[in-house]
Amino acid sequence: MRHVKIVLMGSGGVGKTSLTTQFMRDIFESRYEPTVEEVHRKTIEFDGEMCSLELLDTAGLDQFAQMRDVQIGEGQGFILVYSVADKTTFVDAQMIREEIIKIKTNSVPVILVGNKSDLQNLREVATEEGEDLASKWPHCAFLETSAKSKEHTDEIFTTAANNIILFQRSEKDRNNSSKKKSSQNFAKSCNQCLVM
Ligand code: GDP
Ligand code: MG
Repeated sequence: MRHVKIVLMGSGGVGKTSLTTQFMRDIFESRYEPTVEEVHRKTIEFDGEMCSLELLDTAGLDQFAQMRDVQIGEGQGFILVYSVADKTTFVDAQMIREEIIKIKTNSVPVILVGNKSDLQNLREVATEEGEDLASKWPHCAFLETSAKSKEHTDEIFTTAANNIILFQRSEKDRNNSSKKKSSQNFAKSCNQCLVM
C-alpha cells in the first residue's frame, strides 16, 4: 500500500484540528483546545489503489522552531491553513511557507486553505487574495473551507494526497534521464496551480 504524509500548518485557532476532526470523524466542535502535536491515519482509495494517509496536526507557529523543522522535514505535502476572518493568519501563512521551502526547497506540494468561509460577515481576506497568493507559488493549490459547515473539508485531504502522488510520479520521471520528454512537460506545468 502507498503511504502519504501530510502536515497541517497555520497559526493557532485557524481550524487545523477542526478540519482534521471533520475529515476523520465527521464532527465539528465549537470548543477550542490548543493542540501540541497529533498524528491521525486514514485509508483512502486513489486511482484504484489503497493509500494510507498520515496526517500530522501541529500547533502551528506557537511551537518550538526546532520541533517545527522536524515536522516539516517529515512531510511529503503540506496543508497550510489561515482563517478568512483573520488577516494576520494570512500573513502568518506566508511566513510559514518560507519556513517550509527553507527545508524542502520550493518544489513541494502545498495546499493553501482559507478556512472559516462560513463567517462571511467577519471576512478579512478576499477569496481572490488567497487565489492570487497560491498562483504565485509552484505546486500550490487553493481552496476555501468551513470545518463548521463541512465545505470542501474532505477535498483538501484528498487533493493533498492526489498532488503528492502526482508530484512523486513526476519526480520519478525527472530522475529518469531516458524520460527527458516527460520532465520537460512537467517543467512547463510546475509553475501552475495543481487544482483537482
Ligand atoms: P487550530 O488551533 O488551528 O487547531 O484551530 P481549532 O481547530 O482548534 O479551531 C479553533 C476555533 O475555531 C475553535 O473554537 C473551532 O470551533 C473554531 N473553528 C474552526 N473551524 C471553523 C470554521 O470553519 N468555522 C467557524 N465558524 N469556526 C471554526
Ligand atoms: Mg489544533
